[in-house]
Amino acid sequence: MPTRNHYRKTWLVTGGAGFIGSHLCDRLIEAGDGVLCVDNYLTGSRDNIAHLLDHPHFEVMRHDVTFPLFVEVDGIYNLACPASPIHYQRDPVQTTKTSVHGAINMLGLAKRLNVPILQASTSEVYGDPEVHPQTEDYWGHVNPIGTRACYDEGKRCAETLFFDYHRAHNLEIKVARIFNTYGPRMHPNDGRVVSNFIVQALKGEDITLYGDGEQTRSFCYVDDLVEGLIRLMNTGPETTGPINLGNPGEFTMRELAVKVLEETAASSQLVHEPLPADDPRQRQPDITLAIQKLDWAPRVALKDGLKPTVSYFWQILQAQ
Ligand code: NAD
Ligand code: UDP
Ligand code: UDP
Repeated sequence: MPTRNHYRKTWLVTGGAGFIGSHLCDRLIEAGDGVLCVDNYLTGSRDNIAHLLDHPHFEVMRHDVTFPLFVEVDGIYNLACPASPIHYQRDPVQTTKTSVHGAINMLGLAKRLNVPILQASTSEVYGDPEVHPQTEDYWGHVNPIGTRACYDEGKRCAETLFFDYHRAHNLEIKVARIFNTYGPRMHPNDGRVVSNFIVQALKGEDITLYGDGEQTRSFCYVDDLVEGLIRLMNTGPETTGPINLGNPGEFTMRELAVKVLEETAASSQLVHEPLPADDPRQRQPDITLAIQKLDWAPRVALKDGLKPTVSYFWQILQAQ
C-alpha cells in the first residue's frame, strides 16, 4: 500500500505512441510511475498504446512538440521525431522543425520545471562513419545538404541545444545515441530494413537488398534499448552523455535477409535494388561507455529478437 507521503513520479514521453516510445511507456507504467504521453500521431498510432488508455497512471495528449507545451512533470523523455528515411524525408522541413523547435520547447519546459530531460539522439549523427566501431568522441561524417540531412543535422542541432542548455542553465540532460532498433510495433510500411524484410518474407515477395547488400548495421532489440534509456535517465546529474545505446552484433543486410528467411521459413528470392543516397556503409556501436556508466549491455541476440518481431508482423498481416 502506498504511504500517505508516497510520491509517484510522472514522466513526459514525447513520441510516446511510436514504436520505441510505446515500449518505454509500458516499462514506466509497469514500474509504478505515471506517464504523460504526448504525440501528434505523425508516424505513431493509438493502437500502440490502446492497452494503456484505461490505466489510471497513464494519460495521453495529442500535441505537436514544435509548439510550446505547459504541463507539470518530473522528467522528460524526448522521443518525438519520425525515424525512418521514408517517413522523415516525406516532409523534411517538418522533420528539422520537430528536432530543433521540439528540442527548444522541451528544454524550455525542463528548465521551467527544473527536471531532467533525455534526448533520443541517433547513430545518424555519425553519418557515413570513417571510424569503426563508432565511439562517442567521433564527430561524424554527415552530408549537410543531402536527403538524410533533415534528420541527421536536425538531431545534431538538438544535441547542441541540449549541451547549451546544460552549460547555460545547469539543466540536467541525458543524450542517448540510439543505433538501429527493432521489435514489435515497428511500422509495417516505414521502409526500414527489418520491417521490409519480414513483411516481404511473410507475403512471399522478393526480399529487396539495396546495393550489394554488404553494408552493415547493428540491430538492438527494443526491450534492451528501453532498459538502456531508463538506466541513463536514472544516472546522477554528472552523466550527460552522449552515450551510445545499441547492440554491437554487426550484420550485413544479406546476412539479415538470410536470418529472416530462416525465421519465417519463407522461400523468397533475394533481389537487388539501387542503394539510396548517402546510405552509410557500416555501423556498429562501441558501447564501452554504456557498460561503464550504466552497467548496461544488450541481452537479446538478433535470432531471438526476430521471433517476437515476426509474430507481431504475422498478426497484423492477418488482421489486414
Ligand atoms: P516512431 O516514428 O515509431 O516514433 C516517433 C513518434 O514521434 C511517433 O509516434 C510520431 O507520431 C511522433 N512524432 C513525430 N513528430 C512529432 C511532433 N512534431 N510532435 C509530437 N509527436 C511527434 O519512431 P521510433 O523508431 O519509435 O523512434 C523514436 C525516437 O528514437 C526518435 O526520436 C528517433 O529519431 C529515435 N531513434 C530511433 C531509432 C530506431 O532504430 N528506431 C534509431 C535511432 C534513434
Ligand atoms: N516552453 C514551453 N513550456 C514551458 C516553458 C517554455 O514550451 O513550460 C517553450 C517556450 O515557449 C520557449 C521555449 O520553450 O519558446 C524555450 O524556453 P526558454 O525559457 O529557454 O526560452 P525563452 O522563453 O526565453 O525563449
Ligand atoms: N535496406 C535494404 N533493403 C530494404 C530496406 C533497407 O537493403 O528493403 C538497407 C538500407 O539501404 C540500409 C540498411 O538496410 O543500408 C538499413 O536501412 P534502414 O532504413 O532500416 O536504416 P538506416 O539506413 O537508417 O540505418
